[in-house]
Amino acid sequence: MKIDVLTLFPPMFEGVFSASILGKARDKGLVELNTIDFREFSNNKHNTVDDYPYGGGGGMVLKAEPIFSAVESLVDLQLEGESQPRIILMCPQGEPYTQRKAEELAKEQHLIFICGHYEGYDERIREHLVTDEISIGDYVLTGGELPAMAVIDSVVRLLPGVLGNESSASEDSFSTGLLEYPHYTRPVQFRDWQVPDILVSGHHANIAIWRRQQSLLRTWSKRPELLKDASLTPKEQLWLADLEQKKQAADNML
Ligand code: SAM
Repeated sequence: MKIDVLTLFPPMFEGVFSASILGKARDKGLVELNTIDFREFSNNKHNTVDDYPYGGGGGMVLKAEPIFSAVESLVDLQLEGESQPRIILMCPQGEPYTQRKAEELAKEQHLIFICGHYEGYDERIREHLVTDEISIGDYVLTGGELPAMAVIDSVVRLLPGVLGNESSASEDSFSTGLLEYPHYTRPVQFRDWQVPDILVSGHHANIAIWRRQQSLLRTWSKRPELLKDASLTPKEQLWLADLEQKKQAADNML
C-alpha cells in the first residue's frame, strides 16, 4: 500500500512513521509512507496557502489551488477506474471513524490524506477532489495531522504481514463487533489479585467460551449500543436479555 499525506507540517510525521509497527511495516516494504508539504505547490511569491474567507468572518481558509496541485502531482485524476486512490479529507464534520472504515481502507492500494489547518477548507476541495471525509471524534483539534496519524496507524496494522500474529488484529475490540475480553499475564498472583482459574486451566474450549462471555459482558456494560450490530447466537441474546432484566430490576429497587 502507498500512503501520501498532504500537510503543512511534515516533521510531525517523522517519529510516528519511523517507530514501532509503522516503522517496521515501512522497513519491510509493506507500506510506503510519504509526506508532501503542500506549501510547495503554492502559486504565489509569498508561498501562502490560505486566504481570508469570502463574506467576512474570523479565521483563514485553505486555498483550493495548492491542494489540487499537490494531489495532481501524485495522480492523474483524469484516468478513470480502479487505479484512482482514495483522497481523504481529515475534518471534524466528516464521517465518524470506525474499525469498519479502517478495514475498508486497508483493502486499497493507494490512500492520500489531506490535513487541514486554520478555520477550514475552500469548499471546492470537498466538492470536487475528495472521495472521503473522516472525523476521529466530536471534538476539534488544531490540525488534521494527529487525526491522519490515528487513521493511518489503524489501517497499516491491518495489512497482511504487519502484525506478527495474524490473529491479534482480528480479535481486537470492534473487529468482532464487540469489545475484547480481558487479558492477564504472569504472575498468577499479584498482590491480592488472582488470575481467573479458567485461564490457567489449559482447557482451550472452556477458555474460548469464557472469553466470548467476557467480551459480551464488557460490551453490554461499557458500550451497549454496539450489541445491536453484533452477530449473536440466540442463546447469547437470551443471556444478555436476562442480564438486562436483572439490571433493571436492581435499578428499580434503588
Ligand atoms: N472550523 C472547522 C470546523 O468547525 O469544522 C474546524 C477546523 S480545525 C481547527 C482545523 C483542521 O483540523 C481541520 O480542517 C481538520 O483537518 C483537522 N481536525 C480538527 N478536528 C478534527 C477531527 N475531530 N477529526 C478530523 N480532523 C480534524
